[in-house]
Amino acid sequence: MAERRAKITEDPLIGRLKETVKNIRENSTRNLEKLLEKAEESFQDNDIEFYIAENGEEANHIIYDIVKDERIIAKSKSNTLTEINLVNFLEKKGLEVIETDLGDRIIQLTDDRPVHPTAPALHFNMQEIADIITEKLKVKVEANPEDIMETIKADVLRKLENVKVGITGANAVAAYDGSIVMVHNEGNIGLLSLKDTHIIVFGIDKLVGTLEDAISVAKLETAYATGSRVPSYISVVSGPSKTADIQKILLKNMYGPRRVVAIALDNGRSKAPLECLWCIGCGTCITSCPIYNVVGYDFGYNGYLGGRGVAFTNFIEGERASFDAGIYMCTLCSRCTITCPLEIPIADIIEEVRCQVQRAGYRLDVHKNIIKNIKETGTPFKGGNLKDSKWTSNV
Ligand code: SF4
Repeated sequence: MAERRAKITEDPLIGRLKETVKNIRENSTRNLEKLLEKAEESFQDNDIEFYIAENGEEANHIIYDIVKDERIIAKSKSNTLTEINLVNFLEKKGLEVIETDLGDRIIQLTDDRPVHPTAPALHFNMQEIADIITEKLKVKVEANPEDIMETIKADVLRKLENVKVGITGANAVAAYDGSIVMVHNEGNIGLLSLKDTHIIVFGIDKLVGTLEDAISVAKLETAYATGSRVPSYISVVSGPSKTADIQKILLKNMYGPRRVVAIALDNGRSKAPLECLWCIGCGTCITSCPIYNVVGYDFGYNGYLGGRGVAFTNFIEGERASFDAGIYMCTLCSRCTITCPLEIPIADIIEEVRCQVQRAGYRLDVHKNIIKNIKETGTPFKGGNLKDSKWTSNV
């Protein structure tokens, strides 16, 4: 995949798209308030219920109010849904939540965490996955990809027969058109968006101006995430399913949902540096990061992985979480910025966030010692005399 991605990103058309999307993201993050107002108007015109949630708790309660009479609901892979801990929240309320992405469903059958935004179960080998399925679903599965896929698919489809509410994230949201764009390869978002109610949760940073802008973002994300020019599906939802084929009488809920609900989540985004919000979620930054490649998901927080993830964590969850996510692990090498299609200056953002984390009192022991040494001896080195320090004795 790395080779395929490298090839497509050298394509001049993708180069042009990259420049277009940079402009789109710079403009939209500068005008988020205006775009939110426009989205509210457009969603109303399109018969989409719209809510703005200040934080994850608010978003979860809005969702629970809608689904509280259900026994089972289903969702797609979404960093935003992971961010608000929706699955835990609903499970504690007694609902069963089915993951419909193959990798996420495998992870759901274990107690583990996803290791990659687009390949969550990458750390399990084929035999391990087969063993997990055999144990949890009580079905004997051969350790080959087709058997594994068919078994999970049959199980999820059987459960989906009883599901009336589908919950998804979004890849981009067109404020002026009131349209929500979702990218997928498996077809699961198509299934979820045809349930009686479709709930879509997205960070306010996903807002762009028009549907054309939103499609451009989705195409660039696909190119950088998978090395393909386009995904198998780009779903656009602009309202409930409707028909006026009988005497021009408007009826809803033909094949798709009667109710579409959009929830825009702030959760600290309006306080984040704009560059941090340019991210289109392709995950390229983490594959080039030397730290992520050694420590994996321990360099990140709750689905937001790598340097941009730990910096973003500071705004959505606070300094303590950013500290725990590894804000001091970054080498500031900027390999992530070189590979990022938006050229997000991640090392600069990390340095700023480190100052905030430091001011909030979260420091590594080694930093505490350095501060103590400076206070006591005037140098960072124990002993107070640079000449005698073990760090400089060989210099
Ligand atoms: S600057 Fe930090 S986050 Fe970016 S690639 Fe280097 S180590 Fe990773």
